[in-house]
Amino acid sequence: HHRMLVDAEYAQSKEYAAFWETLSAGEFLSGTYKRLAKNGDDIWLQATYNPILDMAGQPQKIIKYASDITQEKTSQFDFEGQIKAIRRSQCVVSFSLDGKVIDANQQLLDTFGYTLEDVIGQPHTLFVDEETAQSGAYAEFWDTLRRGDFISGRHRRRHRDGSDVWLQASYNPILDLEGYPVKIVKYAIDVTRDVELAEAYEDAKKQAQHDAATSLPNRVRLSAFMAAELNEMSDRLAVLYLDVDRFKSVNDLYGHEVGDKLLGEFADRLRRCLRGDQLAARVGGDEFVIAAPDFTEEDAEELCRKLIDLMAEPFHHDGGEIRIGTSIGVSMAPADGTTPDELLRTADMALYRSKQNGRGTYNFYSNELNERLMAGRKLTEELRRGIDAGEFFIEYQPRFDARNQNIRSAEALVRWAHPERGRVSPANFIPVAERSGLIIPLGEWIIRTACIEAASWSSVGVSVNVSPAQFRDGEIVALVASALEESGLPPSKLEIEITEGVLLEDAARARETLRDLKALGVSLAIDDFGTGYASLSYLRNFPFDVIKIDRQFIADLDSHSGGRAIVQAILALGRALGLSVTAEGVETAGQLASLVRDQCAEVQGYLLAHPMAPTKLREALERQLGLSALLPEDESKTDAGPLKVAG
Ligand code: C2E
Ligand code: MG
Ligand code: MG
Repeated sequence: HHRMLVDAEYAQSKEYAAFWETLSAGEFLSGTYKRLAKNGDDIWLQATYNPILDMAGQPQKIIKYASDITQEKTSQFDFEGQIKAIRRSQCVVSFSLDGKVIDANQQLLDTFGYTLEDVIGQPHTLFVDEETAQSGAYAEFWDTLRRGDFISGRHRRRHRDGSDVWLQASYNPILDLEGYPVKIVKYAIDVTRDVELAEAYEDAKKQAQHDAATSLPNRVRLSAFMAAELNEMSDRLAVLYLDVDRFKSVNDLYGHEVGDKLLGEFADRLRRCLRGDQLAARVGGDEFVIAAPDFTEEDAEELCRKLIDLMAEPFHHDGGEIRIGTSIGVSMAPADGTTPDELLRTADMALYRSKQNGRGTYNFYSNELNERLMAGRKLTEELRRGIDAGEFFIEYQPRFDARNQNIRSAEALVRWAHPERGRVSPANFIPVAERSGLIIPLGEWIIRTACIEAASWSSVGVSVNVSPAQFRDGEIVALVASALEESGLPPSKLEIEITEGVLLEDAARARETLRDLKALGVSLAIDDFGTGYASLSYLRNFPFDVIKIDRQFIADLDSHSGGRAIVQAILALGRALGLSVTAEGVETAGQLASLVRDQCAEVQGYLLAHPMAPTKLREALERQLGLSALLPEDESKTDAGPLKVAG
């Protein structure tokens, strides 16, 4: 440590601590310093300490230049000697206040390649380049000196042959007896070599890790990142290999300059898609890789879709727009590889498949994942067709008063009668509809149809499931208002069931939307309660009326001893917050008895009724009321007609 060069007392002092603080803050220091030789003798140094900054502007090391002036210093008043020592080891030059050279030592002349005759009487601008000489900073520099203020630092100057000379210099105004500056004496050390070294080092470091055209990390940095992530055994890592579609024709048509700009813009768009824990790198001419730790296939799919959409947007250049696009191949660790090389290779192979499939697509390396992907794509197409063909219908599952088992309302559950596959479960097609955006037209049809149907029931209400995706487009409030108006259903007879997914995405916006829905007079239920993160704070902060306990807890009423405690806790929560609680999935008499005992208000499940066709539900309601004559006879009124979606 540097402490070995100073005496023990000073090493402990505040001054010494401050000295290092200044340097580690990146500030330059210079002056006369007392240091310690190995044999314990004092050494006096005329020294400068120069922090060298890294790319982020953080000091990384300190370079010190020093001349030993012990001899001069120890003969206390030997200023002559001291100055001689400095003159021997440093460049010394004096200027008049108007910047003309008065005197210069050999060191300075050697450094700049001049003779004394060359420089005497010449302006200081002889040593700087034109651009610097014209700059405001340079004018300011001389103003400061003429005011009598000292300047020190690192300055770029110009050698006689035009090359750069870097000086670590101090400019010292010499004052007359009244305190007015009369001339400037400059002491300087040529640090060109060190600056060059430092620059070369920074450059080399940057080049080894970063690509110059896009400033993205390069393959070296990517591999290091992946290796580090793969070392954390538990981690799943997704690797997305991207290739710019039609890049070669862009280069051919518009030239390399436009091509490079386009790559830069491509890289910017990539960066904008990334989370902090992910890394994007440029690995080849028009090839990029994203490494995403802790990614599931679903996450990877979502990112692929986002990237493909984003890159399909036109790129602008001086002359207009260019449309390119991207193809992506995905590999997943550990299944598709456990080393960076393996994963890059498998992702590249998946990319090849995407290119073959006609660009603008993504593929997984694993066949299993690809098959699932293809099945998903096929289902999306089928769904689109099914919506156009009006293959969807709604069943209603009654919700009962737990004590007297009267129907209080019914939940609308959408069904798909697929011409070949038969009935497809909503658990299978709703997620696909959500991802493809088809939930919007489908969901609209469900709400409108359910409201029309429920308007024909006397006294009982209807509940409709609404997906997070339907909340996202911001149209849900207008849609509900219009469905109510169109059907004539009183708002109090409509309940919207949402899952906590809605709240997780954008809590502030969700709260606003829920309030607007409440303002229409509809009630709100939180569905599948207990399965996710939904907590007390959600129930307090969002205006729910009903909690629907997820059926897994009801199933546990029979099997687990702890099941009942959880249900009781949710019931207590409901009571505390003034919310009604509905138990879903009641299948056995034992479960029902337990719920009744614990004062659950409402139950729903196969024990009491399966989801049923609207005609069946109306029959049940008629029986319940014993007032069948009051129900409307016009069947057609209860059907909104087949769902048709334009396009
Ligand atoms: P959910 O909203 O929790 O609906 C309850 C699900 O539990 C329904 O399944 C229903 O048939 C089933 N179920 C009812 N009683 C019992 C029982 O006693 N035992 C068992 N094991 N299950 C019972 P379904 O119809 O397959 O719907 C599944 C999920 O699909 C729904 O869960 C809901 O999240 C979604 N979904 C259904 N219809 C729609 C819709 O119209 N719009 C939206 N956005 N989602 C819907
Ligand atoms: Mg539901
Ligand atoms: Mg549910």
